[in-house]
Amino acid sequence: MPDLKYDDKGFIPVICQDADTKQILMMAYAKKEQVLKTITTRKATYFSRSRNCEWVKGETSGNTQQVIKVLVDCDLDTLIYLVKQKGNACHTGNQSCFYRQISENGEINENE
Ligand SMILES: [Zn+2]
Repeated sequence: MPDLKYDDKGFIPVICQDADTKQILMMAYAKKEQVLKTITTRKATYFSRSRNCEWVKGETSGNTQQVIKVLVDCDLDTLIYLVKQKGNACHTGNQSCFYRQISENGEINENE
């Protein structure tokens, strides 16, 4: 297991990107255990900070993420899971969590 840099609570941020379309799907956190699990099972696994538990993406929703590659950045403190996404990545039903934009007047609108 590479020596990744986790924050003081043991988290590393993970960007999840669609391997085919390159769309950014979501962002979440993982601990060492979830990173290891993701690499070995090829199922995108995160740590939910709000629920304080491990979270295998799609376990309840069926919207699984098959991990093609795990990329790590220059500082070893951020990961990208490159995935084949089944269904939507976002619980709102949107393909990506980043379906809104902030316009010049500060309003949040759908990203057309
Ligand atoms: Zn979302």
